[in-house]
Amino acid sequence: MRYVPIARRGDRTAALLALLLIVVLVAPAGPLRAQSDLEAQRAALRPEFRNSLPLADYPHYRIIATVNLDAAILHGQEQVLFRNPAAEPIHDLVFRLLPNARSIYGGGSMTVERVTLDTTEVAWTLSADGTTMTVPLDPPLAPGEEVEANITFGARIPTRSTGYSIFHHSAAITSLSGWFPVLAPYEGGWQAPAIPGVGDANHFAASLYDVTLTAPSTHALASTGVTLSTQAEGDATVWRLTSGPARGFAIALSDRFRVLEAEREGVTIRYHALPGSQTARAPEVALEIAADALAAYSRRFGPYPYTEFDVVETPVSIGGYEFAGMVFVEHSLRTVGSLSQLRFIVAHETAHQWWFAQVGSDPVGEPWLDESLATYSTAVYLEETLGLDAAAGMIAYFRGEGGAPGSGGPITSSALQFGSWATYRRPVYYQGAQFLVALRSAMGDDAFFSLLGQYLSTYRFRIARTADFLDLAEQVAGRELDDLYLAWFGVAEPGA
Ligand SMILES: [Zn+2]
Repeated sequence: MRYVPIARRGDRTAALLALLLIVVLVAPAGPLRAQSDLEAQRAALRPEFRNSLPLADYPHYRIIATVNLDAAILHGQEQVLFRNPAAEPIHDLVFRLLPNARSIYGGGSMTVERVTLDTTEVAWTLSADGTTMTVPLDPPLAPGEEVEANITFGARIPTRSTGYSIFHHSAAITSLSGWFPVLAPYEGGWQAPAIPGVGDANHFAASLYDVTLTAPSTHALASTGVTLSTQAEGDATVWRLTSGPARGFAIALSDRFRVLEAEREGVTIRYHALPGSQTARAPEVALEIAADALAAYSRRFGPYPYTEFDVVETPVSIGGYEFAGMVFVEHSLRTVGSLSQLRFIVAHETAHQWWFAQVGSDPVGEPWLDESLATYSTAVYLEETLGLDAAAGMIAYFRGEGGAPGSGGPITSSALQFGSWATYRRPVYYQGAQFLVALRSAMGDDAFFSLLGQYLSTYRFRIARTADFLDLAEQVAGRELDDLYLAWFGVAEPGA
């Protein structure tokens, strides 16, 4: 850890700050969690979720930010209200500054200019890699007590990503994930693992976001959550966006989107297409896959909680990437990829709305837990839309990619153990998916889908562990599944 002094603001940010001040005038102000704040959050939720969730328990963010696309920078202020969810006092707040990672989000940077706790300015420390900011709490935060942090921050958006281009600016589209300081999840301690070279690092507690974003009016926006209002400010548009409980808040901006819309299960599904070649597959095809997948998962697993779901074509370099209420899919999948690849990626990313956005898990320490469920879910989508033969073809694909149990490392491996996507995917995606095929055949269809439904309703907007899932499977099956676990995980009680 090294101490970083509070930075002086440069001249370039002075102009942005002036713009920020204008925005402050139109953005909501005052303490968070007023009744109007909670109403604004409910707007992002389907009716059955509006009054059934403990909204006051989630960390609550109010972010006011401006994006300068010419300079590929952003600047903002955030208010974060955090309640100690634990039975012990908490001695610091731990934020992730993800643009400072070399992998996944890498190529740009993030700086914090000022931190106050309940109006008192405080110093902070940064981890050696710059991705973890620790803000001491003195006195410590007692169980159930709340603290409000105010953070002024800036970020440089890379035009050449060293990661997956999920935090990235190009002429066609600006992708903003991990673009503000975000609290690590607190699960018996702050969970701030190293950012791996492969896999995923979106490890966030479900939180409420109220974002006021200023960006050029030439651009359209897709994001987590819903747009409550837009307002013209000279050459800029000011968007007010809210999320309901969401793991992170991602945004995409483009002046080239063609937007298609469908409605399923009371959810508005939008597909944001970028211009493609003459031979490209029509975006309507990709929209239909997303809509069919959302409907299939709603029927087999349980409801999708948000009013909107956005699928956005971007240059994301690994096929696709999931966020809460939104996913990115690689633009070239539609323009040059095969139909089966497009189906696999769109259905996989859509499944992460159940196994990531709703049921959280540790994507670094236990990546199999959401990845194998998202991978297996693609077979459920095919079963529901194209029939059992199509699903059998997908299951054969899992077998071909995954190989025999135990080959390629344990299913429960940490993402930090892998140096390449090929070696990572084999156990984490495909052997995990094969285990789920075996689990379904051992439990029978009714019990297996009852397990997935109970797993969803028990851990929705919480973070589950391997043992939570496997213990629940035994409970629902009404018997020990030690032999099956031993065969696939090499131990009878994985994660225990
Ligand atoms: Zn995935």
